[in-house]
Amino acid sequence: MNIPQSSYPRVVIIGGGFGGIALAKKLSQKEAQVVLLDKHNYHNFQPLLYQVSTGGLEPDSIAYPIRKVLQGYPNFFFRLAQVQEVKTDTKRIKTNIGEIFYDYLVVATGSETNFFGNKGIQSMGMAMKTIPQSLNLRSLILENFEQALLTDDLHERDALMNFVIVGGGPTGVELAGALAEIKKGILPKDYPDLDTRRAQINLVQGSDRLLPAMSEVASRKAEKFLEELGVNVWKNIRVTDYDGKKVSTNTKTIFEAETLVWAAGVQAVGLKGLDAETFLCRGNRLRVNEFHQIVGLEDVFAIGDVAQMETEEFPHGHPMMAQPAIQQGRNLGDNLVRAIEGKPMKPFVYKDKGSMATVGRNKAVVDLPKFKFQGVFAWFVWMFVHLYFLIGFRNRVVVFINWVYNYIRFDREARLIIRPFKKQNRVERDTLMQD
Ligand SMILES: Cc1cc2nc3c(=O)[nH]c(=O)nc-3n(C[C@H](O)[C@H](O)[C@H](O)COP(=O)(O)OP(=O)(O)OC[C@H]3O[C@@H](n4cnc5c(N)ncnc54)[C@H](O)[C@@H]3O)c2cc1C
Repeated sequence: MNIPQSSYPRVVIIGGGFGGIALAKKLSQKEAQVVLLDKHNYHNFQPLLYQVSTGGLEPDSIAYPIRKVLQGYPNFFFRLAQVQEVKTDTKRIKTNIGEIFYDYLVVATGSETNFFGNKGIQSMGMAMKTIPQSLNLRSLILENFEQALLTDDLHERDALMNFVIVGGGPTGVELAGALAEIKKGILPKDYPDLDTRRAQINLVQGSDRLLPAMSEVASRKAEKFLEELGVNVWKNIRVTDYDGKKVSTNTKTIFEAETLVWAAGVQAVGLKGLDAETFLCRGNRLRVNEFHQIVGLEDVFAIGDVAQMETEEFPHGHPMMAQPAIQQGRNLGDNLVRAIEGKPMKPFVYKDKGSMATVGRNKAVVDLPKFKFQGVFAWFVWMFVHLYFLIGFRNRVVVFINWVYNYIRFDREARLIIRPFKKQNRVERDTLMQD
Protein backbone atom coordinates (compact mmCIF):
# COMPACT_ATOMS: atom_id res chain seq x y z
CA MET A 1 0.00 0.00 0.00
CA ASN A 2 3.08 2.18 0.01
CA ILE A 3 2.62 3.57 3.51
CA PRO A 4 5.89 4.57 5.24
CA GLN A 5 7.07 2.94 8.45
CA SER A 6 6.52 5.11 11.50
CA SER A 7 7.71 5.14 15.08
CA TYR A 8 4.07 5.77 16.04
CA PRO A 9 1.63 2.88 16.42
CA ARG A 10 -0.54 2.33 13.35
CA VAL A 11 -4.31 2.69 13.67
CA VAL A 12 -6.18 1.32 10.66
CA ILE A 13 -9.78 2.46 10.28
CA ILE A 14 -12.07 0.60 7.85
CA GLY A 15 -14.83 2.96 6.72
CA GLY A 16 -14.98 6.72 6.21
CA GLY A 17 -18.59 7.15 7.37
CA PHE A 18 -19.80 9.16 10.35
CA GLY A 19 -17.93 7.02 12.87
CA GLY A 20 -14.69 6.56 10.93
CA ILE A 21 -14.35 10.26 10.10
CA ALA A 22 -15.08 11.37 13.69
CA LEU A 23 -12.41 8.97 14.93
CA ALA A 24 -9.84 9.98 12.30
CA LYS A 25 -10.35 13.67 13.17
CA LYS A 26 -9.75 12.93 16.85
CA LEU A 27 -6.49 11.13 16.05
CA SER A 28 -5.26 13.48 13.35
CA GLN A 29 -2.83 15.42 15.53
CA LYS A 30 -1.94 12.69 17.98
CA GLU A 31 1.04 10.39 18.16
CA ALA A 32 -0.44 7.73 15.92
CA GLN A 33 -0.16 6.86 12.25
CA VAL A 34 -3.73 6.77 10.95
CA VAL A 35 -4.62 4.76 7.84
CA LEU A 36 -8.21 5.14 6.67
CA LEU A 37 -9.50 2.62 4.11
CA ASP A 38 -12.77 3.03 2.24
CA LYS A 39 -14.14 1.52 -0.96
CA HIS A 40 -15.37 5.01 -1.92
CA ASN A 41 -13.25 8.16 -1.96
CA TYR A 42 -16.10 10.17 -0.47
CA HIS A 43 -18.15 10.40 2.68
CA ASN A 44 -21.85 9.84 2.01
CA PHE A 45 -24.31 11.93 4.02
CA GLN A 46 -27.04 9.28 4.04
CA PRO A 47 -29.79 11.31 5.77
CA LEU A 48 -30.22 13.35 2.57
CA LEU A 49 -30.15 10.46 0.09
CA TYR A 50 -33.91 10.65 -0.33
CA GLN A 51 -33.53 14.20 -1.66
CA VAL A 52 -31.14 12.91 -4.33
CA SER A 53 -33.64 10.19 -5.25
CA THR A 54 -36.39 12.76 -5.66
CA GLY A 55 -34.43 15.40 -7.58
CA GLY A 56 -34.20 17.89 -4.70
CA LEU A 57 -30.40 17.81 -4.49
CA GLU A 58 -27.51 16.89 -6.77
CA PRO A 59 -25.52 13.90 -5.45
CA ASP A 60 -22.32 15.95 -5.25
CA SER A 61 -23.79 18.17 -2.57
CA ILE A 62 -24.19 15.31 -0.07
CA ALA A 63 -20.83 13.64 -0.78
CA TYR A 64 -17.48 14.91 0.43
CA PRO A 65 -13.94 13.80 -0.52
CA ILE A 66 -12.46 11.84 2.37
CA ARG A 67 -8.95 13.06 1.49
CA LYS A 68 -10.07 16.65 2.03
CA VAL A 69 -11.42 16.00 5.54
CA LEU A 70 -7.91 15.38 6.85
CA GLN A 71 -5.78 17.35 4.44
CA GLY A 72 -2.52 18.63 5.89
CA TYR A 73 -2.06 16.06 8.66
CA PRO A 74 1.32 14.34 8.06
CA ASN A 75 0.44 11.13 9.92
CA PHE A 76 -2.79 10.54 8.06
CA PHE A 77 -3.05 8.24 5.03
CA PHE A 78 -6.10 7.39 2.94
CA ARG A 79 -6.27 4.45 0.57
CA LEU A 80 -9.17 3.70 -1.76
CA ALA A 81 -9.56 0.03 -0.95
CA GLN A 82 -12.17 -2.64 -0.52
CA VAL A 83 -11.33 -4.60 2.60
CA GLN A 84 -11.74 -8.33 2.02
CA GLU A 85 -10.53 -10.03 5.18
CA VAL A 86 -9.19 -9.37 8.65
CA LYS A 87 -6.53 -11.76 9.94
CA THR A 88 -6.51 -11.18 13.67
CA ASP A 89 -3.85 -13.83 14.36
CA THR A 90 -1.21 -11.95 12.30
CA LYS A 91 -2.79 -8.46 12.72
CA ARG A 92 -3.06 -8.01 8.96
CA ILE A 93 -5.87 -6.86 6.67
CA LYS A 94 -6.34 -8.14 3.15
CA THR A 95 -7.73 -5.68 0.59
CA ASN A 96 -8.09 -5.48 -3.20
CA ILE A 97 -4.92 -3.32 -3.29
CA GLY A 98 -2.74 -5.42 -1.01
CA GLU A 99 -2.23 -6.24 2.64
CA ILE A 100 -1.52 -3.98 5.59
CA PHE A 101 -0.39 -4.52 9.18
CA TYR A 102 -2.16 -2.83 12.10
CA ASP A 103 -1.38 -2.17 15.73
CA TYR A 104 -4.98 -1.14 16.38
CA LEU A 105 -7.86 -1.89 14.02
CA VAL A 106 -11.21 -0.10 13.98
CA VAL A 107 -14.13 -1.52 12.01
CA ALA A 108 -16.55 1.24 10.99
CA THR A 109 -18.12 -0.38 7.94
CA GLY A 110 -21.70 0.75 8.66
CA SER A 111 -24.75 -1.12 7.44
CA GLU A 112 -26.47 -2.24 4.27
CA THR A 113 -30.03 -3.01 3.23
CA ASN A 114 -31.41 -6.21 4.73
CA PHE A 115 -33.89 -7.98 2.45
CA PHE A 116 -34.26 -10.80 5.00
CA GLY A 117 -33.45 -13.33 2.30
CA ASN A 118 -36.33 -12.36 0.02
CA LYS A 119 -34.84 -12.80 -3.45
CA GLY A 120 -37.84 -11.30 -5.29
CA ILE A 121 -37.72 -8.04 -3.37
CA GLN A 122 -33.92 -7.93 -3.51
CA SER A 123 -33.77 -8.32 -7.29
CA MET A 124 -36.79 -6.23 -8.30
CA GLY A 125 -37.10 -3.74 -5.43
CA MET A 126 -35.04 -0.59 -4.98
CA ALA A 127 -32.73 0.10 -2.04
CA MET A 128 -31.54 3.56 -0.97
CA LYS A 129 -28.34 3.18 1.05
CA THR A 130 -25.74 4.53 -1.38
CA ILE A 131 -25.51 7.41 -3.84
CA PRO A 132 -25.55 5.12 -6.91
CA GLN A 133 -28.69 3.44 -5.55
CA SER A 134 -30.34 6.84 -5.05
CA LEU A 135 -29.48 7.82 -8.60
CA ASN A 136 -30.95 4.54 -9.85
CA LEU A 137 -34.14 5.31 -7.99
CA ARG A 138 -34.27 8.86 -9.37
CA SER A 139 -33.89 7.53 -12.91
CA LEU A 140 -36.51 4.82 -12.42
CA ILE A 141 -39.10 7.26 -11.04
CA LEU A 142 -38.63 9.62 -13.99
CA GLU A 143 -38.43 6.84 -16.58
CA ASN A 144 -41.71 5.44 -15.28
CA PHE A 145 -43.48 8.73 -15.95
CA GLU A 146 -41.93 8.96 -19.44
CA GLN A 147 -43.15 5.42 -20.06
CA ALA A 148 -46.60 6.16 -18.64
CA LEU A 149 -46.99 8.86 -21.29
CA LEU A 150 -46.39 6.35 -24.05
CA THR A 151 -48.83 3.63 -23.13
CA ASP A 152 -52.55 3.66 -23.79
CA ASP A 153 -53.10 0.67 -21.50
CA LEU A 154 -54.68 2.27 -18.43
CA HIS A 155 -53.72 -0.63 -16.18
CA GLU A 156 -50.07 -0.41 -17.18
CA ARG A 157 -50.10 3.36 -16.85
CA ASP A 158 -51.43 3.17 -13.30
CA ALA A 159 -48.77 0.60 -12.35
CA LEU A 160 -46.06 2.90 -13.72
CA MET A 161 -47.37 5.74 -11.54
CA ASN A 162 -47.86 3.56 -8.48
CA PHE A 163 -45.16 3.66 -5.79
CA VAL A 164 -44.88 1.30 -2.86
CA ILE A 165 -42.47 2.26 -0.10
CA VAL A 166 -41.95 -0.48 2.45
CA GLY A 167 -40.94 0.62 5.94
CA GLY A 168 -42.42 3.44 8.02
CA GLY A 169 -39.18 4.59 9.66
CA PRO A 170 -37.64 8.01 8.89
CA THR A 171 -36.41 6.93 5.43
CA GLY A 172 -39.83 5.66 4.31
CA VAL A 173 -41.67 8.64 5.77
CA GLU A 174 -39.30 11.19 4.21
CA LEU A 175 -39.33 9.52 0.80
CA ALA A 176 -43.12 9.17 0.76
CA GLY A 177 -43.53 12.84 1.67
CA ALA A 178 -41.09 13.97 -1.03
CA LEU A 179 -42.83 11.86 -3.70
CA ALA A 180 -46.20 13.28 -2.66
CA GLU A 181 -44.84 16.81 -3.08
CA ILE A 182 -43.54 15.94 -6.55
CA LYS A 183 -46.95 14.58 -7.47
CA LYS A 184 -48.62 17.75 -6.29
CA GLY A 185 -46.20 20.43 -7.44
CA ILE A 186 -44.16 19.12 -10.36
CA LEU A 187 -45.88 16.32 -12.26
CA PRO A 188 -48.89 18.34 -13.42
CA LYS A 189 -46.53 20.95 -14.94
CA ASP A 190 -44.01 18.47 -16.41
CA TYR A 191 -46.64 16.07 -17.77
CA PRO A 192 -49.70 18.16 -18.67
CA ASP A 193 -50.85 15.44 -21.08
CA LEU A 194 -50.84 12.74 -18.39
CA ASP A 195 -53.46 12.38 -15.66
CA THR A 196 -50.93 12.43 -12.83
CA ARG A 197 -53.72 12.65 -10.24
CA ARG A 198 -53.87 8.86 -10.64
CA ALA A 199 -50.32 8.48 -9.26
CA GLN A 200 -50.43 6.66 -5.91
CA ILE A 201 -47.86 6.80 -3.15
CA ASN A 202 -48.29 3.91 -0.72
CA LEU A 203 -46.32 3.70 2.50
CA VAL A 204 -46.53 0.22 4.00
CA GLN A 205 -45.61 -0.32 7.64
CA GLY A 206 -45.54 -3.71 9.36
CA SER A 207 -46.42 -2.40 12.82
CA ASP A 208 -49.26 -0.26 14.12
CA ARG A 209 -47.48 3.08 13.89
CA LEU A 210 -45.02 5.03 11.77
CA LEU A 211 -41.66 6.15 13.17
CA PRO A 212 -41.72 3.47 15.89
CA ALA A 213 -38.43 4.71 17.38
CA MET A 214 -39.96 8.14 18.05
CA SER A 215 -42.69 9.30 20.44
CA GLU A 216 -46.38 8.45 19.92
CA VAL A 217 -47.16 12.09 19.22
CA ALA A 218 -44.47 12.25 16.51
CA SER A 219 -45.90 9.09 14.91
CA ARG A 220 -49.45 10.41 14.93
CA LYS A 221 -48.44 13.79 13.56
CA ALA A 222 -46.23 12.32 10.82
CA GLU A 223 -49.11 10.12 9.70
CA LYS A 224 -51.45 13.12 9.66
CA PHE A 225 -48.94 15.15 7.61
CA LEU A 226 -48.58 12.32 5.11
CA GLU A 227 -52.33 11.92 4.75
CA GLU A 228 -52.67 15.67 4.14
CA LEU A 229 -50.14 15.24 1.32
CA GLY A 230 -52.21 12.41 -0.16
CA VAL A 231 -49.98 9.46 0.82
CA ASN A 232 -51.84 6.18 1.43
CA VAL A 233 -50.54 4.93 4.78
CA TRP A 234 -50.99 1.17 5.31
CA LYS A 235 -50.25 -0.11 8.81
CA ASN A 236 -50.05 -3.65 10.18
CA ILE A 237 -49.30 -5.00 6.71
CA ARG A 238 -46.13 -6.82 5.79
CA VAL A 239 -44.89 -7.00 2.22
CA THR A 240 -43.98 -10.61 1.48
CA ASP A 241 -42.87 -10.62 -2.16
CA TYR A 242 -42.44 -8.60 -5.34
CA ASP A 243 -42.06 -9.82 -8.90
CA GLY A 244 -41.39 -6.43 -10.49
CA LYS A 245 -45.09 -5.74 -11.07
CA LYS A 246 -47.11 -7.20 -8.24
CA VAL A 247 -46.47 -6.55 -4.55
CA SER A 248 -47.80 -9.35 -2.33
CA THR A 249 -48.53 -8.86 1.35
CA ASN A 250 -49.50 -11.02 4.31
CA THR A 251 -53.09 -9.79 3.87
CA LYS A 252 -55.43 -9.80 0.88
CA THR A 253 -54.06 -6.41 -0.18
CA ILE A 254 -52.01 -6.54 -3.38
CA PHE A 255 -50.40 -3.56 -5.09
CA GLU A 256 -49.73 -3.36 -8.82
CA ALA A 257 -46.61 -1.19 -8.95
CA GLU A 258 -43.56 -0.79 -11.14
CA THR A 259 -41.61 0.73 -8.26
CA LEU A 260 -41.06 -0.77 -4.83
CA VAL A 261 -38.61 0.88 -2.47
CA TRP A 262 -37.41 -1.32 0.38
CA ALA A 263 -36.70 0.74 3.50
CA ALA A 264 -37.69 -1.93 5.99
CA GLY A 265 -34.42 -3.27 7.29
CA VAL A 266 -30.68 -2.89 7.62
CA GLN A 267 -27.90 -5.20 8.68
CA ALA A 268 -24.29 -4.53 9.58
CA VAL A 269 -21.64 -4.85 6.86
CA GLY A 270 -19.62 -7.87 7.94
CA LEU A 271 -16.02 -8.77 7.18
CA LYS A 272 -14.44 -12.15 6.61
CA GLY A 273 -12.31 -13.03 9.62
CA LEU A 274 -14.70 -11.27 12.00
CA ASP A 275 -17.62 -13.54 11.27
CA ALA A 276 -17.23 -16.10 14.04
CA GLU A 277 -20.47 -16.71 15.92
CA THR A 278 -18.92 -15.43 19.16
CA PHE A 279 -18.55 -11.94 17.63
CA LEU A 280 -21.94 -11.64 15.95
CA CYS A 281 -25.26 -10.36 17.28
CA ARG A 282 -28.65 -9.89 15.63
CA GLY A 283 -28.41 -8.11 12.28
CA ASN A 284 -24.77 -9.14 11.84
CA ARG A 285 -23.54 -6.50 14.31
CA LEU A 286 -20.25 -7.06 16.15
CA ARG A 287 -20.56 -7.35 19.91
CA VAL A 288 -18.32 -4.80 21.63
CA ASN A 289 -17.62 -3.93 25.26
CA GLU A 290 -17.96 -0.43 26.77
CA PHE A 291 -14.52 0.49 25.36
CA HIS A 292 -15.59 -0.45 21.78
CA GLN A 293 -13.36 -3.55 21.80
CA ILE A 294 -14.80 -6.50 19.92
CA VAL A 295 -15.41 -9.00 22.66
CA GLY A 296 -12.39 -11.31 22.89
CA LEU A 297 -10.09 -9.15 20.73
CA GLU A 298 -7.97 -6.60 22.56
CA ASP A 299 -6.71 -4.55 19.60
CA VAL A 300 -9.77 -4.69 17.35
CA PHE A 301 -12.59 -2.21 17.86
CA ALA A 302 -15.93 -1.51 16.19
CA ILE A 303 -18.03 1.67 16.12
CA GLY A 304 -21.22 2.93 14.52
CA ASP A 305 -23.88 0.83 12.84
CA VAL A 306 -21.65 -2.25 12.76
CA ALA A 307 -21.13 -2.27 16.54
CA GLN A 308 -23.48 -3.57 19.18
CA MET A 309 -22.69 -2.30 22.66
CA GLU A 310 -25.29 -3.79 24.99
CA THR A 311 -26.02 -1.61 28.01
CA GLU A 312 -28.83 -1.50 30.54
CA GLU A 313 -30.43 1.41 28.69
CA PHE A 314 -29.75 -0.06 25.23
CA PRO A 315 -29.97 -3.85 25.59
CA HIS A 316 -29.92 -4.28 21.79
CA GLY A 317 -27.15 -1.76 21.19
CA HIS A 318 -27.40 1.91 20.32
CA PRO A 319 -29.67 3.03 17.48
CA MET A 320 -28.18 2.73 14.00
CA MET A 321 -27.97 6.48 13.54
CA ALA A 322 -25.35 9.13 12.88
CA GLN A 323 -25.12 10.45 16.48
CA PRO A 324 -24.08 7.18 18.15
CA ALA A 325 -21.52 6.61 15.36
CA ILE A 326 -20.03 10.11 15.80
CA GLN A 327 -19.97 9.94 19.59
CA GLN A 328 -18.43 6.46 19.53
CA GLY A 329 -15.78 7.63 17.05
CA ARG A 330 -14.84 10.54 19.31
CA ASN A 331 -14.75 8.42 22.47
CA LEU A 332 -12.65 5.74 20.81
CA GLY A 333 -10.26 8.45 19.57
CA ASP A 334 -9.68 9.52 23.17
CA ASN A 335 -9.40 5.91 24.28
CA LEU A 336 -6.82 4.98 21.67
CA VAL A 337 -4.67 7.92 22.74
CA ARG A 338 -5.01 6.72 26.34
CA ALA A 339 -4.14 3.16 25.32
CA ILE A 340 -1.05 4.37 23.42
CA GLU A 341 -0.01 6.39 26.49
CA GLY A 342 -0.54 3.33 28.70
CA LYS A 343 -3.52 4.88 30.52
CA PRO A 344 -6.82 3.07 31.21
CA MET A 345 -9.63 3.60 28.68
CA LYS A 346 -12.92 5.33 29.53
CA PRO A 347 -16.27 3.57 29.04
CA PHE A 348 -18.61 5.00 26.41
CA VAL A 349 -21.76 6.78 27.56
CA TYR A 350 -24.25 7.74 24.84
CA LYS A 351 -25.83 11.19 25.09
CA ASP A 352 -29.17 10.99 23.30
CA LYS A 353 -29.67 14.35 21.58
CA GLY A 354 -33.06 13.36 20.17
CA SER A 355 -34.37 12.34 16.78
CA MET A 356 -36.31 13.96 13.97
CA ALA A 357 -37.90 13.34 10.59
CA THR A 358 -39.28 15.63 7.93
CA VAL A 359 -42.40 14.89 5.94
CA GLY A 360 -42.34 17.83 3.57
CA ARG A 361 -42.48 21.60 3.27
CA ASN A 362 -43.18 23.08 6.74
CA LYS A 363 -43.84 19.62 8.09
CA ALA A 364 -41.45 17.81 10.42
CA VAL A 365 -41.47 16.07 13.78
CA VAL A 366 -38.79 16.53 16.42
CA ASP A 367 -38.32 14.61 19.67
CA LEU A 368 -35.71 16.22 21.92
CA PRO A 369 -34.97 14.74 25.35
CA LYS A 370 -37.00 17.51 27.03
CA PHE A 371 -39.31 18.82 24.29
CA LYS A 372 -41.34 17.38 21.46
CA PHE A 373 -42.68 19.58 18.71
CA GLN A 374 -44.00 19.30 15.18
CA GLY A 375 -44.80 21.52 12.22
CA VAL A 376 -43.04 24.58 10.80
CA PHE A 377 -40.60 25.20 13.66
CA ALA A 378 -39.66 21.52 13.69
CA TRP A 379 -39.01 21.75 9.96
CA PHE A 380 -36.60 24.66 10.44
CA VAL A 381 -34.85 22.79 13.25
CA TRP A 382 -34.57 19.72 10.98
CA MET A 383 -33.01 21.84 8.21
CA PHE A 384 -30.59 23.58 10.57
CA VAL A 385 -29.40 20.31 12.14
CA HIS A 386 -28.87 18.67 8.74
CA LEU A 387 -26.95 21.67 7.42
CA TYR A 388 -24.83 21.71 10.58
CA PHE A 389 -23.82 18.06 10.31
CA LEU A 390 -23.29 18.06 6.55
CA ILE A 391 -19.54 17.87 5.90
CA GLY A 392 -17.96 20.69 3.88
CA PHE A 393 -18.66 24.41 3.62
CA ARG A 394 -19.42 24.23 -0.11
CA ASN A 395 -21.95 21.44 0.46
CA ARG A 396 -23.69 23.45 3.16
CA VAL A 397 -23.94 26.50 0.92
CA VAL A 398 -25.14 24.49 -2.09
CA VAL A 399 -27.73 22.58 -0.08
CA PHE A 400 -28.96 25.76 1.61
CA ILE A 401 -29.32 27.57 -1.72
CA ASN A 402 -31.10 24.58 -3.23
CA TRP A 403 -33.54 24.44 -0.33
CA VAL A 404 -34.30 28.15 -0.51
CA TYR A 405 -34.75 27.93 -4.29
CA ASN A 406 -36.96 24.83 -4.04
CA TYR A 407 -38.99 26.46 -1.28
CA ILE A 408 -39.64 29.67 -3.17
CA ARG A 409 -40.15 28.05 -6.59
CA PHE A 410 -41.89 24.82 -5.45
CA ASP A 411 -39.33 23.07 -7.62
CA ARG A 412 -36.79 20.21 -7.76
CA GLU A 413 -34.55 20.87 -10.71
CA ALA A 414 -32.29 17.84 -10.35
CA ARG A 415 -34.99 15.63 -11.88
CA LEU A 416 -32.59 14.35 -14.51
CA ILE A 417 -32.10 10.92 -16.05
CA ILE A 418 -28.32 11.13 -16.25
CA ARG A 419 -27.70 7.43 -16.07
CA PRO A 420 -30.67 5.45 -17.38
CA PHE A 421 -31.69 2.56 -15.19
CA LYS A 422 -32.85 -0.74 -16.61
CA LYS A 423 -34.97 -2.75 -14.22
CA GLN A 424 -33.80 -6.18 -15.41
CA ASN A 425 -30.17 -5.25 -14.66
CA ARG A 426 -30.89 -4.02 -11.19
CA VAL A 427 -29.16 -6.71 -9.15
CA GLU A 428 -25.98 -6.77 -11.22
CA ARG A 429 -25.84 -2.99 -11.37
CA ASP A 430 -26.32 -2.47 -7.66
CA THR A 431 -23.67 -5.07 -6.93
CA LEU A 432 -21.25 -3.38 -9.29
CA MET A 433 -21.98 0.05 -7.84
CA GLN A 434 -21.62 -1.11 -4.23
CA ASP A 435 -18.29 -2.76 -4.97
C1 LIG B 1 -31.60 6.78 3.66
C2 LIG B 1 -31.01 6.93 5.04
C3 LIG B 1 -31.42 7.97 5.86
C4 LIG B 1 -30.88 8.13 7.12
N1 LIG B 1 -31.30 9.17 7.90
C5 LIG B 1 -30.73 9.36 9.10
C6 LIG B 1 -31.08 10.48 9.90
O1 LIG B 1 -31.92 11.30 9.50
N2 LIG B 1 -30.47 10.65 11.10
C7 LIG B 1 -29.52 9.77 11.54
O2 LIG B 1 -28.97 9.97 12.63
N3 LIG B 1 -29.18 8.70 10.83
C8 LIG B 1 -29.75 8.46 9.62
N4 LIG B 1 -29.38 7.39 8.88
C9 LIG B 1 -28.44 6.41 9.46
C10 LIG B 1 -27.00 6.90 9.40
O3 LIG B 1 -26.69 7.34 8.11
C11 LIG B 1 -26.09 5.76 9.83
O4 LIG B 1 -26.45 5.36 11.11
C12 LIG B 1 -24.64 6.21 9.82
O5 LIG B 1 -24.23 6.48 8.51
C13 LIG B 1 -23.73 5.15 10.45
O6 LIG B 1 -22.41 5.60 10.41
P1 LIG B 1 -21.21 4.56 10.28
O7 LIG B 1 -19.96 5.35 10.40
O8 LIG B 1 -21.43 3.42 11.20
O9 LIG B 1 -21.34 3.95 8.81
P2 LIG B 1 -21.47 4.65 7.39
O10 LIG B 1 -21.71 6.09 7.51
O11 LIG B 1 -22.44 3.83 6.63
O12 LIG B 1 -20.02 4.43 6.75
C14 LIG B 1 -19.50 3.17 6.47
C15 LIG B 1 -18.35 3.33 5.49
O13 LIG B 1 -17.67 2.08 5.38
C16 LIG B 1 -17.29 1.86 4.04
N5 LIG B 1 -17.14 0.42 3.86
C17 LIG B 1 -18.06 -0.55 4.11
N6 LIG B 1 -17.53 -1.77 3.85
C18 LIG B 1 -16.27 -1.56 3.44
C19 LIG B 1 -15.22 -2.43 3.02
N7 LIG B 1 -15.35 -3.77 3.01
N8 LIG B 1 -14.05 -1.88 2.62
C20 LIG B 1 -13.87 -0.53 2.63
N9 LIG B 1 -14.83 0.33 3.01
C21 LIG B 1 -16.02 -0.18 3.43
C22 LIG B 1 -18.44 2.47 3.24
O14 LIG B 1 -18.04 2.80 1.93
C23 LIG B 1 -18.80 3.70 4.08
O15 LIG B 1 -18.09 4.84 3.64
C24 LIG B 1 -29.90 7.22 7.59
C25 LIG B 1 -29.48 6.17 6.77
C26 LIG B 1 -30.04 6.04 5.50
C27 LIG B 1 -29.57 4.90 4.62
